[in-house]
Amino acid sequence: MKLLVKNILLPRNGATENTDIYITDGVITAIGTEPKGFVADEILDGEGRLAIPAFVNSHTHDYMTVLRGIADDMPFMKWLFEGVMPREEKLNREQSYWSALLGCAEMIKRGTGTFLDMHIIGGASAQAAIDSGMRACVSRGLVGSEGGQRRLDEQLAEIEEFKGYDNISYMLAPHAIYTCDAPFLKKVSAEAQRMGLRIHTHLAESVTEFNDCIKEHGCTPTEYMHSLGIFENKTVAAHCIQLTDRDIEILAQNGVSVATNPRSNLKLGNGIARIYDLDKAGVNVCIGTDSAASNNALNMFAELNYCALLQKGKNGDSTAIPAQKAFEFATVNGAKAIGIEKLGKIEEGWKADITLLDLKVPQMVPFREPYSMVCYCADGSETDSVILNGKIVMKHKQLLTIDEEQLYYNVNKIAEVI
Ligand SMILES: [Zn+2]
Repeated sequence: MKLLVKNILLPRNGATENTDIYITDGVITAIGTEPKGFVADEILDGEGRLAIPAFVNSHTHDYMTVLRGIADDMPFMKWLFEGVMPREEKLNREQSYWSALLGCAEMIKRGTGTFLDMHIIGGASAQAAIDSGMRACVSRGLVGSEGGQRRLDEQLAEIEEFKGYDNISYMLAPHAIYTCDAPFLKKVSAEAQRMGLRIHTHLAESVTEFNDCIKEHGCTPTEYMHSLGIFENKTVAAHCIQLTDRDIEILAQNGVSVATNPRSNLKLGNGIARIYDLDKAGVNVCIGTDSAASNNALNMFAELNYCALLQKGKNGDSTAIPAQKAFEFATVNGAKAIGIEKLGKIEEGWKADITLLDLKVPQMVPFREPYSMVCYCADGSETDSVILNGKIVMKHKQLLTIDEEQLYYNVNKIAEVI
């Protein structure tokens, strides 16, 4: 399958060029100069549009999208244990699938191509990703020790079920230190090593988690996870708000990727992560939305905007986390955290996951430095077309892989039941 994106603006080598992008079987084969013998199966006109790599949402719970707005303005632990958990437990696989597909529709319409998911029902997010054309790294949220083995077995069954789908990958996901005991965390860590999988977890999200950990284990949540050997696996830790200087050193030394979720953290009253310090220490920082139950949108434009602004405010420094840095968090750093090679840049030989933004809207005029425009002006509504794995999944605002009428009908029916 050969796709040609014509007359597109592309940030390249410090300037914005008007160029053409040649794509063959999901890979960008040339930019600007037509490769010999290239005959396009399809041509997408990019006139008046900017090409950026599709975002990588590095922490979400896609099956929870139907829970959007269900427990707003509640204390964090009450939100989790009384608002969310009793309701999510009612979702069966089919309901979780429609909920996850709603998340995929929203993510594509806001320029996202890949997500790292933590779920409670195997298959729903993976199937939604496959059907919508997205890439997903899925992980079964593991809570132990009671029922821990069952959940681990569910993860193994999911891996077996989706064998052969190139765009679906896996991690093992111990939910958090307050929902998994030490023997179970060690067991998951050993399983991850045996299977060659990465770890996806929540870490140091709230003051309660931090204080309880000091009281129970005499160390910080980061020190505790480190002491159990979790970081011997490649790890993506979501949130990481409550960190000491020593914690930052541990995360940097162990190559842990931190997925920051600025809007979820604000909404749940959990604070602002030390992203500027983490980045300075050499930690691979990436950005996620968290779930629609805590955000309440799956919009990476909003996340990178908040990330850049919050760090300037928190550090009293308007140069902290410049636009391009926040953009890298939301693209190439996310791909690195998940372990997908050559994803997150528009360059020859890289994966053809590309979002086209409409520039003929007031907030994008006049058009200046592209990363600044994306970070400080765009709200995501500019997303015009999305190419994932070399295929057009949204063309001029129209989703091609999802029947929206059917989707909204099914989701609204589920919302009534829960
Ligand atoms: Zn989460």
